[in-house]
Amino acid sequence: MPMFVDPSPPGQCIFCRLVAGEIPAAIVAQDELTIAFMDIGQVTPGHVLVATRRHAATLLDVTPQEAAAVLQTAQRVAQAVQAAFDPPGLTLLQANGAVGGQTVGHFHLHVVPRHADDGIHFTWPRQEPGAQVLQGYAERLRAQLCAQP
Ligand code: AMP
Ligand code: ZN
Repeated sequence: MPMFVDPSPPGQCIFCRLVAGEIPAAIVAQDELTIAFMDIGQVTPGHVLVATRRHAATLLDVTPQEAAAVLQTAQRVAQAVQAAFDPPGLTLLQANGAVGGQTVGHFHLHVVPRHADDGIHFTWPRQEPGAQVLQGYAERLRAQLCAQP
């Protein structure tokens, strides 16, 4: 798990420079709010990144319109990946913060074609804390959602 996010300021990070055409990229699609391009480090053939055109570090920094646009572009890209590469599975991955696995501090979503035995492993320590604890967590979140503007 990476513990470092590129600290470049807005407008100068690697993906801002890619959006500006200052560094080369294999661009797949772009529209007013998003850009899709091949990940330089192909986990499997057809691995695409969908990013906001505007610099925003994480999911907490994008506008609702940008969040929706990124997922819409990801769906279009996924349909193209399915048609072009015919993978038996597809995984979307979106990392926030170094501890969350983010290395480039400009919001993006991975579209990863999946194959049996492709070497990708997700391990997480699943716990079942019980109904009372779950209700407590939900109550905390409902309170926050009610307080949102
Ligand atoms: P993350 O760990 O979710 O922040 O993923 C960042 C991704 O950006 C990695 O998978 C890198 O391979 C990819 N990446 C970094 N620089 C470039 C670049 N210049 N062009 C395309 N992909 C890149
Ligand atoms: Zn940026």
